[in-house]
Amino acid sequence: MQINAYAAMKSGDALTPFTYETQGLAPDQVLIGITHCGICHSDIHLIDDDWKTGAYPLIPGHEIVGTVIEVGNQVKHLKKGERAGVGWQCDSCGYCEWCMQGEENLCSKQQATCVGRPGGYANAICVPAHFAFPIPTALSSAQAAPLLCGGATVYSPLRRFINNPAMRVGVMGIGGLGHLALQFSHAFGCETTAFSTSKNKEPDARKLGADHFIVSNDNAVLKKHQASFDFILATTPKGVDWSAYIALLRPKGVLCIVGALETNITASIMSLVDGRKSICGSNIAGTQTIKEMLEFAARHHIGAQVETVPLTQVNEAVNRVREGKSPYRLVLEVSQ
Ligand code: NAP
Ligand code: ZN
Repeated sequence: MQINAYAAMKSGDALTPFTYETQGLAPDQVLIGITHCGICHSDIHLIDDDWKTGAYPLIPGHEIVGTVIEVGNQVKHLKKGERAGVGWQCDSCGYCEWCMQGEENLCSKQQATCVGRPGGYANAICVPAHFAFPIPTALSSAQAAPLLCGGATVYSPLRRFINNPAMRVGVMGIGGLGHLALQFSHAFGCETTAFSTSKNKEPDARKLGADHFIVSNDNAVLKKHQASFDFILATTPKGVDWSAYIALLRPKGVLCIVGALETNITASIMSLVDGRKSICGSNIAGTQTIKEMLEFAARHHIGAQVETVPLTQVNEAVNRVREGKSPYRLVLEVSQ
């Protein structure tokens, strides 16, 4: 099948129409006709080569929802005509200790859907079916697409670290990932605070589940909330004064960073030693957690706040995300 996509030919380039042929379906693969693909900030990092992957031509896109066109003869959990979604990861070794536990995102052989492989800014994609998930009927395709990467990435650490609904949770950066994190944290029953550089996001943040809203670009304001949080999830794509966020933690508090930054953290060791605090990172989620997250989102009416844009207007949409002028999630809509 010929697949029609959009690709960047070099770092920072506008995307241009690009076609390629699929090589026939392997027994463990699925071919999906894409209807929706979210624009995650990781796509911007890839297009701009912030991570020095240098993988061009680059067809971005890893928040994919569509309809199954064809399945290989070993595929049991998806059928032709059903909706399916694919996120950041599309392959792993399948037999290491992490893969055996459904934590394929920790496998040393993990492969990303749109790095060195054609991604989802296209009318179709062929991937190993293990990494394609049925979409619950309660979720629309547009609101489900950003759950596949953004939703999974915030659900996984929230689920891991929240062991008590009385915990006080902070979400820093209320964009694609952050606005989903507010919804999950609220649904887990936690007192939830949004940290945002954009004062105008307060009404939305409160509707999405924030009990409190803190304008975060003023360290004097942050200082008033010292030692108040058990868990802070940082989703910003840019570096900040991390020591100001460590100071916000209560004893045993955790600062978890999911923003994919190429910068270093400088923090005093004593600020962690006193009060047994931790800093950690987290990457996407394994397949078990993604399945659970989709079910949980459907049950709690959690989905992305999206604006849809035709795939033909991809460059304008990418620029809006790059410049921080997009709604919570821009989702490309593909006509089949
Ligand atoms: P996004 O939709 O662009 O939102 C980022 C938010 O960060 C903005 O809405 C803004 O929120 C805040 N922000 C603060 N300073 C900013 C700046 N200088 N430029 C842009 N935003 C700024 O991004 P996203 O899709 O949520 O992704 C966020 C980060 O997570 C990216 O680095 C992405 O690559 C990474 N990511 C990591 C994983 C993983 O596995 N760890 C998975 C997916 C994405 P306020 O207006 O509220 O301040
Ligand atoms: Zn992503």
